[in-house]
Amino acid sequence: MAQKKMDIADAEKLIQWYMDHKRELPWRDTGNAYDVWLSEIMLQQTRIEAVREKFIAFKKAIPDIRTLAEYDHDALMRLWEGLGYYSRAANLQKCAKVLVEQYDGKLPEEYEQLVKLPGIGPYTAGAVASIAYGKGVSAIDGNVMRVLARYFGFKEDIREQSTKDAVFQSIQDVYRKPVSYSAFNQGLMELGEVICVPKGKVLCEHCPLYEKCYAYKNQCINSIPYRSPLKQKKIVERTLLVIRQGDRFLLHKRPEKGLLANLYEFIGVERKLSPQEALKEVEKMGMEPLHIQRLPDAKHIFTHLEWHMTAYEIQVGDMNEQNDFLFANKKELAGMAIPSAFKTYVDWFSLREK
Ligand code: SF4
Repeated sequence: MAQKKMDIADAEKLIQWYMDHKRELPWRDTGNAYDVWLSEIMLQQTRIEAVREKFIAFKKAIPDIRTLAEYDHDALMRLWEGLGYYSRAANLQKCAKVLVEQYDGKLPEEYEQLVKLPGIGPYTAGAVASIAYGKGVSAIDGNVMRVLARYFGFKEDIREQSTKDAVFQSIQDVYRKPVSYSAFNQGLMELGEVICVPKGKVLCEHCPLYEKCYAYKNQCINSIPYRSPLKQKKIVERTLLVIRQGDRFLLHKRPEKGLLANLYEFIGVERKLSPQEALKEVEKMGMEPLHIQRLPDAKHIFTHLEWHMTAYEIQVGDMNEQNDFLFANKKELAGMAIPSAFKTYVDWFSLREK
C-alpha cells in the first residue's frame, strides 16, 4: 500500500474549521478527563442525541470517579437504561475502582497507562490522552477512519488490519508538529459526524479538506470506505417464561460473566416451546402452573446475535424461594435494571395493568 501523509497546512485548516464550527456538547471543553472518558464510552454504538440527556443525568447522579467506584450496581444499570450494551456501564465501574486504587481517583495522562485499564481500548485511550491532556496521540474510530479513507483515497477493505495501519500512519507526522492535538483529533471526529457522513448527503462544499481530497476530486465518495460484508448474525430461538403468582413476577439474575452479565431477566429457555412444553418446564422447577397465556413475540438484536422470543405468562400456585431468583411486583419491576431485550414484556404489563 502506498504511503500517504497529511500535510501540515491541511491539518491546520482542519483545526481552524473545528475551532470555528464545533458544536456545543455537554462534555466538550469542560477540562475534565472524566467527562471525556464517560462521553466516549456512552457514544460507542449510540447516537449523540441519545447520549446528550443521558450524560447530563448520569453526571448529576455520579459527578466523579470516586462516586462511580462506590455506586450501587443496580442503580448504575438503571441510569444506563436506554443506552444498551450494559457491559459498558459495568466496565466503567470496574475501571473507576482501579482508578481509585491505583491513580488516586484520576484518569492517568499517558496513552500507555490508559489503554491497560478495563473497558478502555486504543480509541478511547487516544481520545482521553489527546482531548483531556493534550497528548500527541491519534484517536481513530469509524468516523475518523471514513474521513481519512476518503481524503487519502484508501480503497482497500477497512476491516483489514493493514488498511487500519496505513490510515493510522497517514496522520502520525501531525503529532510531531506544534499544533493542538486535541483540536486536530476532535476536528476529524466532528468532520466525520457532521460533514463527511456515511450515508445521505456528504457536505464536501463545507469541508476544509476538499481541495486535496481524493474521493471528492475523483467523485468516488460513495465507494470509499470499502467494507467487506459481515457474516450473518446467529439467530437464537428463546422462550421466556413470565412466571407470576398474583402480582409478583419471578426473576432470575444472569451469570456474572457473558451476555447481559448480572442483570435480571424473566426465566428463559434456549428453544421454542409449545404451551405444553412451557408448562412442563415450570413443573420441573417445582411449581404448580395454574394458567398459561401466550404473550406477543419479540426480537432483540445484539451485535453478534439475534434473540427471537416466544413468551408465556404463567400463573402458578406456591413459589419457593430459590437461589438467584427474586420476586418483584409490577412497581418494583419498573424500577429495576431489566435489559432492553425484555422491554416489550415489561412495557406490556405496565400498559395492560395500569
Ligand atoms: S471533501 Fe468530502 S469526501 Fe473529502 S473529506 Fe471532505 S467531506 Fe469527506
